[in-house]
Amino acid sequence: MEQLKIKNLVIEYRSRIQAGNCFIHFNNALDQHQTKVSLKATEIIIQVDDDVYKVETKEFFDINIKSFHSLLVKDTFISFRFITANNKQFDTEVLKVNGSYDKGQRIKLNFDSSNGEEEEVSVTCSNCGSLLTTSKTITLKRILELPSNNLDVSDWFCHRHNDEKIFNNSHTERDSSSNCFNEETQQFQPKTNDLFYGPFCLLMNSSLFEKSRFRQKRNLIHCKRCLQLLGESNSNSHIKFWWESIHFTNKLFFAVDNPIVLIKNVIRNHLSTDGLVVVTPIVKIIFETTIPNADQKMHVLIQVMEKHLQLLQLNMESSQLAEKKSIKVMYLMLNQSNADDERTLKYWQKDINTTTFELSFKMFHTLCEYLKTQSELIPEVYRTNNCFQLSYIELSNVNV
Ligand SMILES: [Zn+2]
Ligand SMILES: [Zn+2]
Repeated sequence: MEQLKIKNLVIEYRSRIQAGNCFIHFNNALDQHQTKVSLKATEIIIQVDDDVYKVETKEFFDINIKSFHSLLVKDTFISFRFITANNKQFDTEVLKVNGSYDKGQRIKLNFDSSNGEEEEVSVTCSNCGSLLTTSKTITLKRILELPSNNLDVSDWFCHRHNDEKIFNNSHTERDSSSNCFNEETQQFQPKTNDLFYGPFCLLMNSSLFEKSRFRQKRNLIHCKRCLQLLGESNSNSHIKFWWESIHFTNKLFFAVDNPIVLIKNVIRNHLSTDGLVVVTPIVKIIFETTIPNADQKMHVLIQVMEKHLQLLQLNMESSQLAEKKSIKVMYLMLNQSNADDERTLKYWQKDINTTTFELSFKMFHTLCEYLKTQSELIPEVYRTNNCFQLSYIELSNVNV
């Protein structure tokens, strides 16, 4: 039989209430009678069969060894709780109001349109490199960040622009037809030299693109050569592209290898309190996507249970605990054909505490995989809450 090994070890450490909650996941089922856990002042000792694992805690806390309780050995998991003793006697703690997150980084552009600079770019499919525009290069004069979901879109009307200089070369007349935002359709309308972008997608004027390079199914646009899903076209005026599906030749924009970083960044921004958005005590997020080749949407509901959790995770190589600033969430993947799920979705969508973000199918898939992997740190017996699964989203080191 394969040797029993630790797959993962995490401690939910809540320093305020001096509590530690340890979950240890093994690669195979454990025998209760062959498993022993003991605590020392600065060490957790796990004995399984003849193997002994030691985890040093001194860097973070001391353990009150008499407080050891709730030991559970079940299937592939060991879990237990303990009270910590503060080992930093002269430590003073500065309490932040609500303990807010710093805002995540904004998307960085190597381009400043405010001084009339222009940028020549060509746009290709990120998968096969097929040129998507009618001419080899296009000229961008204005690149603007779209308002986030919680901001009032009315700030975007042309007649409310504060800095006229920026827009001089884009609008010759100031009538309503030159607005970037169409009130009637509730859509942003980039002009031929405009690029509007959000955390997951960008909008460009349709006339820039060569229709014969696309294969369009309903409103979904695919690359004709490799059939990668590029984005959507919900109006004649513009196309919405997913960031990861197209490529700009001169690296005008940031490159992200792992889309989960973009998602974490959006969550982090959503939780940060130093913006205009006041975060309510209850935070609910819906991530939504459209399934390619099916006229269906998929949703994952995420409710934030704990905004500031110090999650200590054992690094298997160094055998040291490492701190991961995380949020604890419960999440639910919805199945559109299920009537209960449909009802839950409607209920969430009506809730004032809910914010919805739309993701590409690829990103949505990455998010679900991430939530699932993270939830596997928690023993099955503690993982489920109604139909929801508990999981962690790590928000430290979120760098775009
Ligand atoms: Zn392609
Ligand atoms: Zn405008």
